[in-house]
Amino acid sequence: MSDFTLKEINKIDQLETKEDIWDVVSYINETFRNAVEIWISDIHIEPTEHFILVRFRKDGDFFLYDKIWARNTSAIVTRLKVLSKVKIDENKKPQDWKIVYVYEKEKKNIDIRVSTLPTKYGEKVVMRILKQDASLTNLEALWLIEVNLEKVREALKSKYGIILISGPTWSWKSTTLFWILKSFNPLEYNISTLEDPVEYDIEFVNQSQVKPEIGYTFATWLRTLLRQDPDIIMVWEIRDKETAVLAVEAALTWHLVLSTIHTNSATSTIQRLVNMWVETFLIASAMKMVISQRLWKRICSNCKEIYTPKEVELKKAKKILEPILDKDSLENLVFYHWKWCEVCSWTGYKWRLWVHEVLIVEDYLEPMILEKASANEMQDEAVKHGMVTIVQDWLLKALIWETTIEEALKLI
Ligand SMILES: [Zn+2]
Repeated sequence: MSDFTLKEINKIDQLETKEDIWDVVSYINETFRNAVEIWISDIHIEPTEHFILVRFRKDGDFFLYDKIWARNTSAIVTRLKVLSKVKIDENKKPQDWKIVYVYEKEKKNIDIRVSTLPTKYGEKVVMRILKQDASLTNLEALWLIEVNLEKVREALKSKYGIILISGPTWSWKSTTLFWILKSFNPLEYNISTLEDPVEYDIEFVNQSQVKPEIGYTFATWLRTLLRQDPDIIMVWEIRDKETAVLAVEAALTWHLVLSTIHTNSATSTIQRLVNMWVETFLIASAMKMVISQRLWKRICSNCKEIYTPKEVELKKAKKILEPILDKDSLENLVFYHWKWCEVCSWTGYKWRLWVHEVLIVEDYLEPMILEKASANEMQDEAVKHGMVTIVQDWLLKALIWETTIEEALKLI
């Protein structure tokens, strides 16, 4: 448990001055932990004539965190520089860098952006904690099961590579793309999009509309965009070889490229790129993740009831779920069905639901891509490496009341 209290800024006299910090490593670590736990956005470390003031900014307001004798300034600043591997002996110029703080409790890496400014009494340090609460909500809106949500979050930490959303027409691929895009803080990156058409406005994101009739195709715009120093590029759709090749090249030159593609499974997406004659070694090094998805009807929550599946349905379901569920859960599968009611207009279904397959392109896939393995072969290998298939995901969602077993089994 943390044993600190935040004090209001006008109570500075009541805050005791800490003599010396003997263990600066633990002190910094504890400060980060405290800040993360109470959702602080910024930490300010300010040297004054007699002491260092440590302030937290929370929801826009400053609070006092700590007051330490001034002689500790260099130890604290040096420790921060060591953490981020910047020049330790540089204290005359402002510096910007990033620290990755490992938050043990939730086993998460949290990026902290650090900026220093030399002042009369030493270097002032401001740290922005890039824990984006809004982003978590956004990604959660995608209905990803926990294991997939973790994979997506992890992949989105990459600074380069291609992330593709695949699915048939009307699987709302672009909606997923937008939720993902919104999980980045646009002020931390240069984000540019090429859309057709521009559907949603996102603040601080440079959105452009392609105009093929006057020669502004995805490919021509993508070339122009690359001269705009982008970090993240969203291309509405990869339809042709030219766009595919440019996207892959952009991804390999330190850009994160997000796009959609019209395919039926995660591994067939890779095959599609191969079929577009994009060089296999480029695909193997550029691809980071494919999220394949379907949009389907969600069961009406008003009239759903427990359903006893037919023996043949249950047998199929068990076979599909066997690799990912333990014995106990397999013996106690509970499914649901609907009755029909007014709320669902007598259809049994209300609103929609996504099911997914998340493929992380890791080393084991590389030789398969190079050898142009079939989508099925890659799929088998991906399953061995922990990929939850779309049918498994669908059945898992049937188990949490969101859809029915017969809908899930329609997929096979
Ligand atoms: Zn109903």
